Amino acid sequence: MTKYIFVTGGVLSSLGKGITAASVGTLLKHSGFDVGMLKIDPYINVDPGTMSPLEHGEVFVTKDGAETDLDIGNYERFLDASFLKSANFTTGQVYSSVIERERAGGYLGQTIQVIPHIVGEIVNRIKLAGEGHDILVVELGGTVGDIEGLPFMEAIRQMKHDDEVAGTFFIHVTLIPFIKAAGELKSKPTQHSVQELRRIGITPQMIIARSENGLPKTFKKKLAMSCDVHPDCVIEALDAKTIYDIPVTFLRQNILKPISKELELGELNPDMEKWDTLVKRIVQPKEKTVVGFVGKYLELKEAYKSLTESLIHCGAHLDARVEINWVDSEEIEEKGAEALLGDCDSVLVAGGFGSRGVEGKILAIQYARENRVPYLGICLGMQLTLVEYARNVLGLEGANSIEFDENTPHPMIYLIDNFLDQNGGTQLRTHESPMGGTLRLGEYPCDTKDGSIIQNAYNGEKTIYERHRHRYEANPTYREQLEKAGMIVTGESNGLIETVEIEGHPWFLGVQFHPEFTSGLQTPNPSILAFVKASLEAE
Ligand code: GLN
Repeated sequence: MTKYIFVTGGVLSSLGKGITAASVGTLLKHSGFDVGMLKIDPYINVDPGTMSPLEHGEVFVTKDGAETDLDIGNYERFLDASFLKSANFTTGQVYSSVIERERAGGYLGQTIQVIPHIVGEIVNRIKLAGEGHDILVVELGGTVGDIEGLPFMEAIRQMKHDDEVAGTFFIHVTLIPFIKAAGELKSKPTQHSVQELRRIGITPQMIIARSENGLPKTFKKKLAMSCDVHPDCVIEALDAKTIYDIPVTFLRQNILKPISKELELGELNPDMEKWDTLVKRIVQPKEKTVVGFVGKYLELKEAYKSLTESLIHCGAHLDARVEINWVDSEEIEEKGAEALLGDCDSVLVAGGFGSRGVEGKILAIQYARENRVPYLGICLGMQLTLVEYARNVLGLEGANSIEFDENTPHPMIYLIDNFLDQNGGTQLRTHESPMGGTLRLGEYPCDTKDGSIIQNAYNGEKTIYERHRHRYEANPTYREQLEKAGMIVTGESNGLIETVEIEGHPWFLGVQFHPEFTSGLQTPNPSILAFVKASLEAE
């Protein structure tokens, strides 16, 4: 039977609840347990796939093709594991399945209510996510007191008394503000949010106190008393130099002791040695390289979360700081690529949707190709390498992706009518098919060509597995023409073009998949690692 750790948030959002949950999970995993993770999102959207990355940050894609909250990415990067669809659900999903069952007559005429039906569905989903794991860490999105959060609170309260649950532990993450005028740390907001939790029937057993300043012993004691927890159960979480340092700082405060005591886990000695070495290299690396990161949502870097994190992982493994030079693709259109990318060791064009900034990305690719600068193009960044090559090397005027020009005379990137999905079923994709249902999502195999950059990056692996999130594909009609002129297809997935390289260029790789989704601190993604290496070696 599974034991459950619930992480709730108080006072305000953005306190790093996700990182807290991931850190606790990491320490337990390194103690030898099979740890699962679950993020519950109280919003009504059925999934974050259609939410603006500006508002919501990145959409993270799981191996089995679910579009999930970016916190799932944090879990995977910390725990070095692949989680599935069941690791994230929303209010929208809960209501959809209850309503669907009601329409199908599944409730035999009962009146459907929040309690017991909605709450029951939530409990079932939490248990499903916990199945097969020793411990499931559950992060509840939002803040205590939110109206949307109530059914979830009720569900986790009920789980305390569930015979199918081997144990529960409640962690509350809150803010301890420092009021400058008074020169004091304030515990009142935390007291209020704990009171609110207790009103609902949940008594947190641990307080994780986010604070800019260290908490004096006397203050911790006071906080413990007023929140009704043991003083050992007040853990401080100060601003860290890197998020990957947090598990280690928690461990130093003996965070596992009370958890182990309550959940009867025995004596825990997590092995964090390798982790610690990597963290030290993130904080104080020997070398440095500058990557020109070309994208469009630069106002909100959270939209590229997995990618920026993967650069940190690769840096840690190569003992180098990967400095990102953020370059807005629209600015390239105005000022030219040389002006904005001239000082970079390498160029990275990230994935994206919509036509804004596309021409700037093409200029960046042309610059990297002509100046023999290491280049990695991801998804849209790969598709545009074909467009650039077609226009500037093959001389195919007006070449484009049909995403940006439906009537282009040379559709280098096009929409295929059907393709085999992950389960071997046929998927239809045309301009008319509804958004969302038409993306190629999740993990697919990619067969690599001997001697290619991509195969070398994966240590000679002939078949690699990476995740996808895109609608359009490279058009094979142009393959022969491209290859004759030096752009070689080096990776294929069931006949679809997956990766391209340029003969004679020191390091040029376009990948249709999103390598960043499989990068973890301890297991950096091989394509990105090889790219950063090339960037470091570039003169
Ligand atoms: N817009 C492109 C497509 O849909 C690329 C998507 C992406 O970069 N994730 O195929």
